[in-house]
Amino acid sequence: MADAQRLILGGVTPLPAEVVSLEGAAGRVLAEPARAVVDLPPFPSSAMDGYAVRAADTPGQLRVAGRIAAGEPATVALVPGEAMEISTGGVVPEGADAVIPVEYVVEHDNEVETGGVAPGANVRPRGGDIEGGEVVADPGSVLTPARLGALAAAGIPEVRCARSPRAAVLATGTELRRPGESLAAGEIYEANGLILSAQLEAAGAVVERFPAVGDDEGELRSALEVALAADVVVTSGGVSVGPHDLVRRVEAELGVEEVFWRVAVKPGKPIAFGVRERTLVFGLPGNPVSALVGFELFVKPAVRALQGVPDPLPRFERGRLRGARRRNPERDELVRARLRRSADGPLLEPLSGQESHMIARSAGADALLLVERGNGELVDGTPVDYLRLE
Ligand code: AMP
Ligand code: MG
Repeated sequence: MADAQRLILGGVTPLPAEVVSLEGAAGRVLAEPARAVVDLPPFPSSAMDGYAVRAADTPGQLRVAGRIAAGEPATVALVPGEAMEISTGGVVPEGADAVIPVEYVVEHDNEVETGGVAPGANVRPRGGDIEGGEVVADPGSVLTPARLGALAAAGIPEVRCARSPRAAVLATGTELRRPGESLAAGEIYEANGLILSAQLEAAGAVVERFPAVGDDEGELRSALEVALAADVVVTSGGVSVGPHDLVRRVEAELGVEEVFWRVAVKPGKPIAFGVRERTLVFGLPGNPVSALVGFELFVKPAVRALQGVPDPLPRFERGRLRGARRRNPERDELVRARLRRSADGPLLEPLSGQESHMIARSAGADALLLVERGNGELVDGTPVDYLRLE
């Protein structure tokens, strides 16, 4: 598994960057540092509704010399012996160095009686969050809601991000029909196109889903010729050892250089990976669980790397196995599991029905639990790595 991931990522360079408006940048990956346009806050601002004062004048009786709402410029300075009513976010006037919350004073006849307050209390200094010119987010960072908010607050209207990868999805198999059509003998409903398209979109790709093609060289070639214009091609089915498994052969005829075929993982062993110029070509096996798992382990990291994510490999976390589990001597196994929280930390409970065609049973899995290849059995409570499925 690790070798395959290395081979895939070794051939990936991030796509060229483009300018993206913040409005459309959620989930995108920064290609350059984003620097604050202004100090944040841009002026000393009040953290409270209250009264701006000179701390040295407190405790004491102060004349209310003015009222400052958020959004107004500070026009007059505060002179000794005075206070100014101020709203949260209002500009703390020159001469004032503290704000007394409104809850702690009583105003009457334009005067307030205050207790003591320390210098700086309830004043947000200019640039206290970040200063103009400082880096708000580094290259490679994903524009999460919090980062988008930080960029907007720092006055940045647009950013440079790697172009979104264009991905083509092509399910292969003569037996495949769309849900809603009727099934003749031997036919099944097509699931992988939808699984893979949804996974690709969640990973940040722009997806073109091709109609499924039969196990026919001509059909396959025509579809692949078009699909290969994408940055990433993901096929399902037709990469195993049967007489109708034509994908690798047709791809080779179209100039795809195979980098590897078959990985010691379960499910998903017959996965193929190749490249044609800058296009990454993934042949996932047809069993829906194999396609789903193969995507998480091999395709998603590539799609993230194309966007400039510096650490795109799946993030395994640590938990404990619930129940016992026999290891596979030849292949690392990704077991579909329920994730439960317990006082001892996360517990991973394998679902019943682990065969690679059992997509209905897999649908309830929260996690893929990694059972590394080997002999013997993992006993109940063994520490294990798992990958959360979202
Ligand atoms: P293959 O990898 O083409 O040998 O297919 C393996 C198994 O997965 C077969 O039982 C296929 O019928 C099934 N299969 C292939 N493609 C799909 C698909 N797109 N949706 C659901 N099942 C599929
Ligand atoms: Mg097939």
